[in-house]
Amino acid sequence: MDWRNKPKSFWAERLTPEQFRIMREGSTERAFTGALLNNKDTGQYLCGSCETVLFDSKTKYDSGSGWPSFYKAGTEDHNDPVEYKKDDSLFESRVEILCKNCGAHLGHVFADGPKPTGQRYCVNSLSLKFKKEDEE
Ligand SMILES: [Zn+2]
Repeated sequence: MDWRNKPKSFWAERLTPEQFRIMREGSTERAFTGALLNNKDTGQYLCGSCETVLFDSKTKYDSGSGWPSFYKAGTEDHNDPVEYKKDDSLFESRVEILCKNCGAHLGHVFADGPKPTGQRYCVNSLSLKFKKEDEE
């Protein structure tokens, strides 16, 4: 399926209005409101639009920013799922992160993260879907 060229109407049907505003129009959820902010379960974080694997719970940490934060994008099996785009929409220039598969807006990446990468992927809960690791 060609996820990149879906019309807005496709997403409007598939997503909640809040998800639509964030993932398709680049808006940001309010800090400390996201459902996945304090999620500490083991598993994978998928794109809220197309369910591509984006982040591993092993790389999630508490950044204090109010949004789910990861120090690395991708997992062992999916190592390059995120696209980077320079965003000059605020006073400072930031780097926007998007799902490479469908173009959904995820959040931003900053260079003040912890070791080993020094990166902070700051992601909207509403751009993500959590898939808990099967307990066997
Ligand atoms: Zn996606």
